[in-house]
Amino acid sequence: METLVSLCASRGFIFPASEIYGGIAGFWDYGPLGVELKNNLKALWWRRMVHERDDVVGIDSAIICHPRTWEASGHVEHFSDPMVDCRTCKRRFRADQIEGERCPEAPAKRAVRDCDLTSARDFNLMLRTDIGASVEEATTAYLRPETCQPIFSGFKRVREAARQKVPFGIAQIGKAFRNEITPRNFTFRSREFEQAEMEFFCHPSQREDWFAHWRDFRFQFHRDIGFDANLLRLRPHASDELAHYARAAVDIEFLFPFGWQEIEGIHDRGDWDLSRHTQYAGKELAITDEETKERYTPMVIETSVGVDRTALALLVAAHREEQLEGGETRTVMKFHPAIAPIKVAVLPLSKKLAEPAQAIQKTLRRHFNTFYDDAGNIGRRYRRQDEVGTPYCVTYDFDSETDHCVTVRERDSMSQTRIPAEGVLAWLRDRLEEGF
Ligand code: ATP
Repeated sequence: METLVSLCASRGFIFPASEIYGGIAGFWDYGPLGVELKNNLKALWWRRMVHERDDVVGIDSAIICHPRTWEASGHVEHFSDPMVDCRTCKRRFRADQIEGERCPEAPAKRAVRDCDLTSARDFNLMLRTDIGASVEEATTAYLRPETCQPIFSGFKRVREAARQKVPFGIAQIGKAFRNEITPRNFTFRSREFEQAEMEFFCHPSQREDWFAHWRDFRFQFHRDIGFDANLLRLRPHASDELAHYARAAVDIEFLFPFGWQEIEGIHDRGDWDLSRHTQYAGKELAITDEETKERYTPMVIETSVGVDRTALALLVAAHREEQLEGGETRTVMKFHPAIAPIKVAVLPLSKKLAEPAQAIQKTLRRHFNTFYDDAGNIGRRYRRQDEVGTPYCVTYDFDSETDHCVTVRERDSMSQTRIPAEGVLAWLRDRLEEGF
């Protein structure tokens, strides 16, 4: 992890937010490569979940919801972790991370009796904010702890506007906020993060079938973006682990350097959310089946993936230090081409060849994210692209002037192929979109 964290910062994938002030725990910034990686991931999710299906539509809702939303959803009452404060060092910990009566930060020589821990108290994980011009009139609101609630409160509007019939789903990607007591493991547990969620509404008799469908569909997505089968597993929740709203749940877990951890949850939320919003807003959210005339509240199957956690898993899975012949080590990020931040680097062998090389880049950049580099030794330029996971480099050399061909160098095999310059776009397109 340490190597990866420092590579992420130095290459501009991810670094601490407000870094010059010493950072702020649980918040991270994505740099020029990180934003491309994350955008690719979100675009692939959107393509699979929304564009390629007739039964799912998208929305983009406000981060701040009416405060009653979180009473209805159960978050005001239930969304908390038991926590303990240490009066000596002023730090706060999750009660389940404390052993005995000892503060985890206490130096080894400090006696247990000098660790002044409070008893465990419930600490709500929602981030609060005040809305309104004056302090007296301000209303307390929350930054949403999950993106799905506006999907439920907007269910009727979206269904009617999109002329959808149950079964169908509503998808959204957006920021969520949780005041995690101990943010850790790089971006894995952050206080501000992005979720890609889809709520699928179905008839009660179909909930098991849809749960199985979405579990398998989502697992396949993680295989498609490049995770090996041995890095992924499904972990069903035991009944005593289920969230307050859930009837059944399975996690998709990834093998991080710090162990198997959840990157996505598939949940059967039953009719909890629609029923509660019906009750709290006083607006009927049940539907009538046009054919059978049956009136019922749809059941919900949710797929909820953390964009940042998946991006971290992609970085972990891609990272390699390879021993080359001659003793040299090469750092390479073996991203699936659909995920790679830069798809192709255009490298003229000499600065004198800048003009024709830039003409090639101009054609390619209308289709993919490209990078141009004419500085330094070509071997070193290839290595720099390997380090950021660029699947292909196109080299324009002095022979290209006469044979109108370029060399395409492939990241994983390091093989080089000479192809006609005018065919390079089609050649790359076939390979970059493979499997997606
Ligand atoms: P955990 O048990 O790890 O706290 P959770 O079960 O509370 O996670 P869900 O509420 O099911 O998580 O949220 C769905 C997804 O959102 C998770 O699978 C994860 O990818 C992402 N997520 C949740 N909390 C965080 C966080 N603090 N930082 C980054 N991603 C998160």
